[in-house]
Amino acid sequence: MKIHEYQAKQLFLDYGINTDKGIVCETPEEVYEAAEKFGKCVVKAQIHSGGRGKGGGVKLASSPDEAREIADNMLGMCLVTKQTGAEGKIVHKVLVTPANEIKKEYYLSVAVDNENAGLVIIASADGGTEIEDMAANHPELIIKENVSVYEGYHGYNGLEVARRMGIPAELKKDFVKMLGSMIKLFLEKNCSLVEINPLIIDGNDKLFALDAKITFDDNALMRHPEIVELRDILEEDPKEVKASEFDLNYISLSGNIGCLVNGAGLAMATMDIISKFGGSPANFLDVGGSATTEKVTAAFEILLSDPNVKAIMVNIFGGIMRCDIIAEGIVFAADKLGINVPLVVRLEGTNVNEGKEILKNSGLNIIAAEDMADAAHKAVNAAKGGM
Ligand code: ADP
Ligand code: MG
Repeated sequence: MKIHEYQAKQLFLDYGINTDKGIVCETPEEVYEAAEKFGKCVVKAQIHSGGRGKGGGVKLASSPDEAREIADNMLGMCLVTKQTGAEGKIVHKVLVTPANEIKKEYYLSVAVDNENAGLVIIASADGGTEIEDMAANHPELIIKENVSVYEGYHGYNGLEVARRMGIPAELKKDFVKMLGSMIKLFLEKNCSLVEINPLIIDGNDKLFALDAKITFDDNALMRHPEIVELRDILEEDPKEVKASEFDLNYISLSGNIGCLVNGAGLAMATMDIISKFGGSPANFLDVGGSATTEKVTAAFEILLSDPNVKAIMVNIFGGIMRCDIIAEGIVFAADKLGINVPLVVRLEGTNVNEGKEILKNSGLNIIAAEDMADAAHKAVNAAKGGM
């Protein structure tokens, strides 16, 4: 789960990390009032995406009037950044913060290190730009320091990073403490990323988090009702929001074949076999081992709400899940929603004959498939308009 910069900055302050939480505003008038308090200020679009600066979502204002004018343009605009994709994101809120003098910009983050089953501190003496660009163009400038989850963070971890980043001697102690606070926050709140980009040396010669990004591990959210409260549904893909309501594992992708599958492994294999036949999946969707008619209907609703979906491939292996239940779900969903794209169905496993019978008797225009390859082949053809 992602949160906004202003929410991340509040968490930073809770953990003693030096930053300014600023004032969140939803109207140009509120921005005017906030800017009156700060004088020279920065108006920052609050969207769940980085790269806002380059996309026109971070603007300096030298007067309250100018801040109001900037906000007037920024609020409601569709902000496109490198991370949002071409469709961009609508700006519903802006953050007004005092303008800072920047003496130096660094990059600093803490992330999960899958390879070493621990944490990794990622840092660079050159902050401000996106880390992905930096990693691609200047991998030698990226500093990595592993932190064991068993041994925890030690001052020497921080000192080593500070040395390699070239943090001035008089700030090293503050740096080690700041990094310790980031790691404490990371572990206590079950984060997957805590990032400061840029971390600056400000006009008072202090380390200061000018930007803040935190991502949380969705699987640990049940431990953190206070974090769940920070969720902003407006920022999320409505299809993914609906999927989470029905406890469906759904991820939206860019292809045109909607997939409805039971089991994550089979869902992955389905995506692979679609690609093998020259097609492209519109989503990953695992309805789980205990899908009900409601769940299957919700799954179809999600697939059909995606204008990119030109064909649907249902791939079910009935184990605990019975094929007749899935077939009933398909018929119910088709009756309720009216499926207007070709529907390819492959059923196998428990009660497969009963399932096929239900589909046959339904009168629905279903393209039956013998096996996975047959289904993928037919779905790819159907999506191309060939069936
Ligand atoms: P993003 O990472 O989404 O582009 P940032 O908050 O990092 O957004 O801002 C982008 C750039 O704008 C920063 O690298 C910095 O140069 C400048 N900037 C942001 N906030 C301030 C501020 N309060 N004072 C001065 N410059 C700022
Ligand atoms: Mg940034």
